[in-house]
Amino acid sequence: MQRTEIDGVPVLWEPGPEPLRATLTFGVGARDETFRTIGVTHLVEHLAMGALPRVHYDVNASVDMTVTEFTVCARPEQVTEFLERVCRVLGALPVDRLGKEAGVLAAEGGHYTDPTVEGLLHERFGGRGPGLAVYVGPGYDRLTAEHVLAHAARFFVSGNAVLQLTGPPPPGLTLPLPPGPLIEHEWHEPRTQSGPTVVGAAVPGVGVSLLGRRDPAWAAAMTILAERLEQSARHDHGLSYQVSGEGLQLGGERALLAVTLDAREGQEAAVAGIVWAEVQRLAASGPTAEELSLTYEEIKELHADPRYVPVELAHAAEALLLGIPHHPRHERLARLAEVTPAVVRETVSEALPTAQLVVPYEVDVHLPGVGEGGCARVREDPPGRVFKPPFLAQLLAREARAIRLILMDDGVALRDPDGDVHVVRWPEVVAVERDGAELTVFGANGCQVPIDPDLIAGTDKVVAAVERAVPAALRYERSALTSSG
Ligand SMILES: [Zn+2]
Repeated sequence: MQRTEIDGVPVLWEPGPEPLRATLTFGVGARDETFRTIGVTHLVEHLAMGALPRVHYDVNASVDMTVTEFTVCARPEQVTEFLERVCRVLGALPVDRLGKEAGVLAAEGGHYTDPTVEGLLHERFGGRGPGLAVYVGPGYDRLTAEHVLAHAARFFVSGNAVLQLTGPPPPGLTLPLPPGPLIEHEWHEPRTQSGPTVVGAAVPGVGVSLLGRRDPAWAAAMTILAERLEQSARHDHGLSYQVSGEGLQLGGERALLAVTLDAREGQEAAVAGIVWAEVQRLAASGPTAEELSLTYEEIKELHADPRYVPVELAHAAEALLLGIPHHPRHERLARLAEVTPAVVRETVSEALPTAQLVVPYEVDVHLPGVGEGGCARVREDPPGRVFKPPFLAQLLAREARAIRLILMDDGVALRDPDGDVHVVRWPEVVAVERDGAELTVFGANGCQVPIDPDLIAGTDKVVAAVERAVPAALRYERSALTSSG
């Protein structure tokens, strides 16, 4: 892999298959957004691509949890043309088209990653950073030109970009981006837990995540886990079709590793049972020597494929943008050759207490040795002024009797009909949504407290307290583009 620099942008290149493929990657993704600006990276990408003249060669753009990419696969002079245009438009975004693009994006919906992975990330990080991807958020129509321009000015700059090329840079290539430094990303700490957990969430499938490392033992462990799950859930039991693996960088050599599966309707609990059994089996007995050598051969084959060149370039670009070490593929393969079944067993076994599983809501699942996950709820009411449902509602609905809204000196709490208490303290508020007379307070701990005058009597005092305590920049009117939560 060669490294050079053009107009302040690091350029990584390695000969790969024709035609020339160029990817301009920025160190910004969903994890860099706040609750108030959910979707702003996607909006920047759409405004930029929408402003470019239509071309007949292959171009694309995408945003994921950590990076935003603009890709062109074409003749060298076309690559040069596209990249120069992208760079220029990122410095002068047509924010007058904001309203139109907001409608397009709302209709498109879209996720930053697999929705089951988004559920796993929310379970791990709550209401900030990578945990935000599950939320609808304020909606694209609540993002202003100021939000978009501030985001672009901070992240879409020469120092926070890397160009990847599958051949030498074409002559005359320029990258006229606004100048700016490499962003030092905030690494969000995962929530603490005392052992493995499972929770029902707004996810379509079943998933498990573990806190691991960017090393060959983990690469082998997750490959073998996915293969065993495919064998068991798909081939032996016919309960799933698709098994996918995913990783998220957590800084340095740390990483979150996840496997997700779809499940036939009504079979989610059975699939979760298989997932947990296979994770435990790998932690207890490790892989067989044959599984490990098969994994080695597969990865060796993959690395030797010329189509792997863009994948390796993307790894190197991500490492550069996130400020984490890049281990070239020959080094990764050499280290994988040293990994033994015992090492894989110890690796997974040590991480077992960090396991978190998600299943779709309403799935009744009990797994041996696995606690209940979910938001940071408690059982005790905090001290404060208590608001209850109106007397008539209490008579009509048994559920309503248990509900309490509590206004504390430093926050607000809700006791739900199950007796769980969700507490959000003012400094932890990430957003307040207003929908008519109802407010919803969202907390960084993953809790949310609805303040609904139809449900609770006398909420105007609570509403006034929220509006005094929470900065206006965190409050917004519910999107006109979303029909339901
Ligand atoms: Zn909660």
